[in-house]
Amino acid sequence: MFDNLSDRLGNVFDRLKGRGALSESDVREAMREIRVALLEADVALPVVRRFIDAVTEKSVGQDVLRSVTPGQQVVKIVDDELVAMLGGGGDADPADRELNFAAKPPVVIMMVGLQGSGKTTTTAKLGKLLKEKHGKKAMMASLDVNRPAAQEQLKVLGEQVDVATLPIIEGQQPVDIARRAMDSAKLQAADVLLLDTAGRLHVDEALMAEMKAIAGVSTPTEVLLVVDSLTGQDAVNVAQSFTGEVPLTGVVLTRMDGDARGGAALSMRYVTGKPIKFAGTGEKLDAIEAFDPKRVAGRILG
Ligand code: GDP
Repeated sequence: MFDNLSDRLGNVFDRLKGRGALSESDVREAMREIRVALLEADVALPVVRRFIDAVTEKSVGQDVLRSVTPGQQVVKIVDDELVAMLGGGGDADPADRELNFAAKPPVVIMMVGLQGSGKTTTTAKLGKLLKEKHGKKAMMASLDVNRPAAQEQLKVLGEQVDVATLPIIEGQQPVDIARRAMDSAKLQAADVLLLDTAGRLHVDEALMAEMKAIAGVSTPTEVLLVVDSLTGQDAVNVAQSFTGEVPLTGVVLTRMDGDARGGAALSMRYVTGKPIKFAGTGEKLDAIEAFDPKRVAGRILG
């Protein structure tokens, strides 16, 4: 994960730590290299600027350079800022990254995102996680009438993870499926209802209107946007487009297992203000992790 960035930062850090004394220009030189590394990782420019400014200010403005181990202290400052960038800074409430089950059951979790982002797979992964890790009775329903066999796909995944799916009624429209899913989840005393909505190839008005209508009838406690981390800044742009339209409560970054760059993960929180709640780490249905900024920063810094 994020191997390229990790290697680049590792080189800069080795040099910083290898020196007994550091001057302000040494720090500025290191920051120039980190800046390039972050941009190559596809981190959004305003995020890079903020990061470099914060690290520079903390490194040269205090007693860091006069300390016994200046290099190590600068590395620690970079580490802290990376954690903040990933949404784990002192001002971030860790509870924001957890699913909210406070509503009266069935708690509705609405999954939104573009086609191919990994939405259906993530829905099944979450169904399994809710059942096995949280002890919840989960139910899943596919509202995707656009993509052929999408509903069937969720049914098959549901069987694999042993989580009930709403029976398919051919020709029924998304809002009506959502209503039927709510009724069925209540009847079956499900704790949580996962709604897998339709995607599109691009964000468009029809998609947003559909998402709003579904949210209107299902009053979700969580609206999770699923984005493919491999798409870097595009993922962040998609998140921005959704943010004003539907009340997103968090982001799921899929394909983190193959992401050598990290731009989506590193830009998402700052650009959208939304927490990354989960990371998809493979095709298997248990390949999902609660997103932990400290752990991810730790992996980047090696
Ligand atoms: P949807 O169109 O958004 O519902 O996307 P799907 O759930 O059908 O996923 C598209 C493809 O991405 C499938 O082949 C999934 O197995 C794959 N996929 C989903 N999440 C991950 C992930 O976290 N890692 C990897 N490697 N593949 C994933």
